[in-house]
Amino acid sequence: MKGRMQAGAAALAIAVIFAATMTYALPAQPDTPAAPSPATPATPVAASPAVEAAAPSDPAVATDARLAGDEERTRLIVDLSRRITLGAFTLANPYRVVVDLPDVIFALPNEAGHEGRGLVSAYRFGLFAPGKARLVIDVGAPVKIDKAFVLDPVDGQPARLVVDLVKTDRESFMKSVAAPVRRAEDPPGLRASLAANGDTRPVIVLDPGHGGIDSGAVNGAAGINEKTVVLDIARALRDKLEATGRYRTVMTREGDSFVPLGDRVRIARELQAKLFISLHADSLSRRGNDDVRGATVYTLSDKASDAEAQRLADDENRADLIAGLDLSEEPSDVAGILLDLAQRETKNFSAQFARTLGGAVAGAARMHKSPLKSAGFKVLKAPDVPSVLFELGYLSSKRDVDLMTSPEWRSNVTDAMVTAIDAYFSAQVAKPSATSISVGSAAAGANGADGVTTNGMQGSGIQAQPAAIRP
Ligand SMILES: [Zn+2]
Repeated sequence: MKGRMQAGAAALAIAVIFAATMTYALPAQPDTPAAPSPATPATPVAASPAVEAAAPSDPAVATDARLAGDEERTRLIVDLSRRITLGAFTLANPYRVVVDLPDVIFALPNEAGHEGRGLVSAYRFGLFAPGKARLVIDVGAPVKIDKAFVLDPVDGQPARLVVDLVKTDRESFMKSVAAPVRRAEDPPGLRASLAANGDTRPVIVLDPGHGGIDSGAVNGAAGINEKTVVLDIARALRDKLEATGRYRTVMTREGDSFVPLGDRVRIARELQAKLFISLHADSLSRRGNDDVRGATVYTLSDKASDAEAQRLADDENRADLIAGLDLSEEPSDVAGILLDLAQRETKNFSAQFARTLGGAVAGAARMHKSPLKSAGFKVLKAPDVPSVLFELGYLSSKRDVDLMTSPEWRSNVTDAMVTAIDAYFSAQVAKPSATSISVGSAAAGANGADGVTTNGMQGSGIQAQPAAIRP
């Protein structure tokens, strides 16, 4: 580690010399509140088609990264295979610096970004949107982007991205914060064709959590992260659902890309999906929790069913913040209709599917000791799409990791999910009020329509605890 820091310091000295003579790709941030978005001409990033067209087609590769400096001035340096353009801006609540890049492949050491130095507490990197990468730097205090530029390769040194941050006060920081930017990209074309082709089969939206710059929970020792596990399982589930011929399935992400939470909800709503299933894997960072295991099905509620559910919802709701989105620009379209009848009915259907799913999966996988819970998950807030969030297990548990990565377990669990989905939809077809769903456990659906209507998912209303708990 020492050697790396010294190397960093040397690179800093060299870079400072170059910085004195070169033209920056990015000027210092303007001081006005109406600072440009990262897509304005002042900050030529990948958002501009002209820039993309001019750039070589192969993505640049980031091979190493290091921090140098102290609490007054800190520099982040990223080695690159070639020169690229960048845009940088700051965000508040919490303080962050976001560096937008064109398509970059990050081949950085595993530990990159985990440890801070000087003004930087940590940083993340990854794909933000197709063809666009992003670095998000967490800073513990207000900073100013003094310089942000890319150096050409020279004298055997790779090209280098350099971000210089200097300490500032909160007032100056708030003045420099970029105008909020949210992605306003059209959903994939698939959606239009789904709506137009006259196919009346129900649409199921599968939502693999996290992605791209947001890895979700990570088990470094096992070398796996949540975004990959849930994507693999979502793909397997999609294939099985498609094979039944009974459903149209859409994934909120097909690959390792970041999708904001609001967009996931929007996809389900635009498609008028009949079911939305968000897939995740939990993790407990506190020591002594290695034995906490098992799958849990969550539904939406204003008040969390218990403290752990609240903790998890807080974790999962951080996804947009992790990826460097400004949460003050949350769309408010959902808020106004939360309490109408459709919302109430949606909640009942969500609870019904959660019980069915919990019952079915209990026959295939180990469930958490309280397998049905609720909390305020942003991704479950579609007022008109029954939605559940399925935590497959704990990445902090070695035994759960062994299961979640085993083909047999994955096969059993996705089979059970198909069974639950079939049962849920056949009950709806048979009788819209769905009085009896019996999958996996005799108790599932036993409380009937009235129970479904009044009980939701909270407290003693949960009468359908999965019966079979397997190791
Ligand atoms: Zn998650």
